[in-house]
Amino acid sequence: MRAKSLIVVGLALVALRGTGARSQAVAPAADSAADPVRVLVGRLDLGKYKTTIKGLTRFGDRRQGTDRNRAAVDWIEQELRSYGCSNTRRVSFEYKAVTGRGSVDGRRQTDAQGGGRLRGVRTRVGVNTDSLAQPDRALRALNAQPSTPGLREEVYCTKVGATHPDEMYIVGAHMDGHGWGEAANDDGSGTALVMELARIFSAPDVQTDRSVRFALWNNEETGLTGSRAYVAQRQALQGKEDPKGSGQYPEPKWLGMIQHDMMLFDHGMPHADGTVSREQRPEADVNIEFQMKSTFAAASQKLAWAVAAANEHYATDYPATVGNHMTNTDSNPFQDAVAAISLRENERGREIGAGWDPHWHQPTDLYATFNDRDFQLGLNAAQSTLGALGQLTGARLKP
Ligand SMILES: [Zn+2]
Repeated sequence: MRAKSLIVVGLALVALRGTGARSQAVAPAADSAADPVRVLVGRLDLGKYKTTIKGLTRFGDRRQGTDRNRAAVDWIEQELRSYGCSNTRRVSFEYKAVTGRGSVDGRRQTDAQGGGRLRGVRTRVGVNTDSLAQPDRALRALNAQPSTPGLREEVYCTKVGATHPDEMYIVGAHMDGHGWGEAANDDGSGTALVMELARIFSAPDVQTDRSVRFALWNNEETGLTGSRAYVAQRQALQGKEDPKGSGQYPEPKWLGMIQHDMMLFDHGMPHADGTVSREQRPEADVNIEFQMKSTFAAASQKLAWAVAAANEHYATDYPATVGNHMTNTDSNPFQDAVAAISLRENERGREIGAGWDPHWHQPTDLYATFNDRDFQLGLNAAQSTLGALGQLTGARLKP
C-alpha cells in the first residue's frame, strides 16, 4: 500500500507540473539533498540580511527627490551587480509634488483601509514632519535636504529563466522612506529582503526555469508612484521578444507580483495606555495579504497560499497568516493585471493602521531600534518568499 500511494503522489506531482499549475505549492522531499529549494533557503543568513539593512540606513530616510535617495538607488544597483544580478535597468518617471491631496473618504470610524474592521485599542498614526523630533543631530543633518519635484529613477535586475525566459515573477520592495529616521523597517527591511533574494538566485550554481525580477520601487511614500509608473510603462511590453529571434524578453509575461513592506515588528496591539510591548510577541507571524476586491483575487489568493505553504515548509521560527485586505503597497497597481500579494509584519489596514507599529514613519525607525528577534521575523518572510519562488520557478542547482 505504501509503495502504491507513493507512486500515486509521484504521479500527482508530475500532473501538477505538467499542467503548469504554478501557484500550487508542490511539497518537496524532506531531505536537502533531494530538495534544492531547501539548500537555497539555507543560504539566507541573518547577519547578511542585517548588514544589507544597515547599508541602506547609511542614506538616512532615503526620501524621494533628494541626493540621499539618488545615492541609495546607485548603491542598490552596485550591490545587485556585485551579486551577479548584472543586467540592471532603471525605470524613469516624473514626480510633481501633489499639493492639497485631500482624502474624500466615506469610511466609518471602525473601517480599516483596504477592508476589514479596526478593533481593540488604537493609537494615533501619521508621518512625522518635524526635524527636531529627531534627537540625533548627525541623522537630522543627513535628512535635511528637502525633496524637489522632477525626474525619479528606480532600479531592477532579473534572473533569466533557462527554459521560460519569457515568463516571470516580480519580487518588490520600496527603497524610499520618510519621517526623519533611517527608514530601517519601512522599508529597509523589505528592500534588503529583495536584495538578499537577488543575491541567492544570482549565484552561479543556481538555475530556474522561469525568470524572477527583483524591483526596488521609488516614491512608494508619495502614493505608489514608482510602481504605478512601472505598470503604466511596461504592462504592454509583456512577453515580447526583442530583438526578434534574440531569445531576449525585456518584459517577460507577468506570472505574479510579491511585495515586501515593513517586515520586522510584530509586538502586538497597543496596551490600554497606548504603549506597545518592547519585545517581539511570541505569536508573531508573517502577514500575507491579497485584495479580495481585485480582478485577480482568485489567482492572488492561490499565490498567497503557496507562500503560506512554503512558510510551513521552510521558515525556521515564525508562521504565516493569510488575509484578504492588501492595501497601500506597491502590489496594488498590479492587482488587476496579475496575481498580486504583499508580505508584512502585520496587516496593513486593521493592525498597522491602528497603531501596532509605533516606529512607523517616525524618527525611531532606526536600525538600532530593532533586535535579533525582530530581524528574524524579516528573515522568516524571506525564507517564505524564497521557498515559494524556488518551487514556482523550478529552481535547481547545477551539477
Ligand atoms: Zn512602506
